Amino acid sequence: MSEEIKDLKKKLFSAKKNGYDRLNAAELPLVDAYCTGYMAYLDAGKTERLCAAESIRLAEAKGYRPYVRGMEVKIGDKLYVCNRGKAVMLAHIGRKPLSEGAQIAAAHIDAPRLDLKPNPLYEDSELAYFKTHYYGGIRKYQWVTVPLELHGVVALKDGRSVTVNIGADAGDPRLVITDLLPHLGQEQAKKPLGVAIPGETLNLLLGSRPIGDEEDTSRVKLAVMQLLHEKYGITEDDFTSAELEAVPAMNACDIGLDRSMIGAYGHDDRVCSYAALKALLDLEETPAKTAVCVLADKEEIGSDGVTGMQSAAFDTFMEDLCDAQGVPVRVCFEKSFCLSADVTAAYDPDYAEVYEKRNAAFLNYGVGLCKYTGARGKSGASDADAETVAYVRRLFDDADVFWQIVELGKVDAGGGGTVAMYMANRNISTLDAGVPVLSMHAPFEVVAKLDCYETYKGMRAVYLAEN
Ligand code: MN
Ligand code: MN
Repeated sequence: MSEEIKDLKKKLFSAKKNGYDRLNAAELPLVDAYCTGYMAYLDAGKTERLCAAESIRLAEAKGYRPYVRGMEVKIGDKLYVCNRGKAVMLAHIGRKPLSEGAQIAAAHIDAPRLDLKPNPLYEDSELAYFKTHYYGGIRKYQWVTVPLELHGVVALKDGRSVTVNIGADAGDPRLVITDLLPHLGQEQAKKPLGVAIPGETLNLLLGSRPIGDEEDTSRVKLAVMQLLHEKYGITEDDFTSAELEAVPAMNACDIGLDRSMIGAYGHDDRVCSYAALKALLDLEETPAKTAVCVLADKEEIGSDGVTGMQSAAFDTFMEDLCDAQGVPVRVCFEKSFCLSADVTAAYDPDYAEVYEKRNAAFLNYGVGLCKYTGARGKSGASDADAETVAYVRRLFDDADVFWQIVELGKVDAGGGGTVAMYMANRNISTLDAGVPVLSMHAPFEVVAKLDCYETYKGMRAVYLAEN
């Protein structure tokens, strides 16, 4: 190749590079240290409630305190509000007034899982079970024969709330959903993946040891209920007002001989939640504009509900902060920027047919920017304007953040959504960005450590933007 052509290519062509070909060797320990913190965050927060609590614990350790309406709001203040124990909004009040807008990162802390039904407990053939109702988009076949743990709360009529934790502590028993043996699975094996495991077979095995005498009935169910009563003081009717979630009983671990990846439950979207939170907590000085981190619930079922991104809880939080500065919240919103921090699909060579390689996200290429998500003709996407994408390009390049511009998969292959449109609908310029994930929504997902760290750097760049 002539020098001339080489130079011309260098000048005119996009030069995508594996992050490891760009990374300064001195940064590698920072990547590892960051990911160690992230893995501990995952282990501590396997449900939205636990993740919210862990986020608040980390924030308080860095000087954040609960915001109470009417409180004076001063430059440099570090405030947070927890919405019903399931979503968290944090703000580091900037030097500029909120009339100049806020720099927002919004991620979600809920993840696909199996919720208990309101009448969950039953006995069949002298085995006790909990019936479940899946939450979010799961591939049901992935949730059988996987060790599970149970977390959540039972809200009692007297106003007390009992925290349930079965399976997370060392020595705890685990729960499991059984599957057919291959010897008898010939008919099942012919069925499409989506229907081979019906939702009504996702029942958690709870016990097999009866109490009482032979002539008694429901003896295994009674034994299980007795154990639950001893431990938590609850009766069967209390399941009526409970939120109990079965999640994989696995902690985060390194993946690969080179330890370059992390395997865990709930990367979607705690990998972006942690990046958004940690970047905010690590700000060593007061940002120019108010930096806001939103850790939302209910994204996996459409962001509806009182703790979801469509809830007025966010508007209320922002309006309260704006009120303290005498700024109409609509003025703040129209000047604000939001990075909708959510994961994207990483290119998987085993399933190349669903990806469009020229626009796919690759592991180790950094945070994936998505101008739009959605399905088919971009249905359900906020479709950021070119100017907003240019703004983030500049921010990220100036901060030396590794990023790639990507789509989820082939145009006709399917699609997905994020909280982006709900922020954009508020008249906030919004762009999707997040970590590429392998096996997204599986009980055990995989991300690359480098991408986690670059996403953290990206969040930091957003918070620190002067304009
Ligand atoms: Mn997500
Ligand atoms: Mn998801």
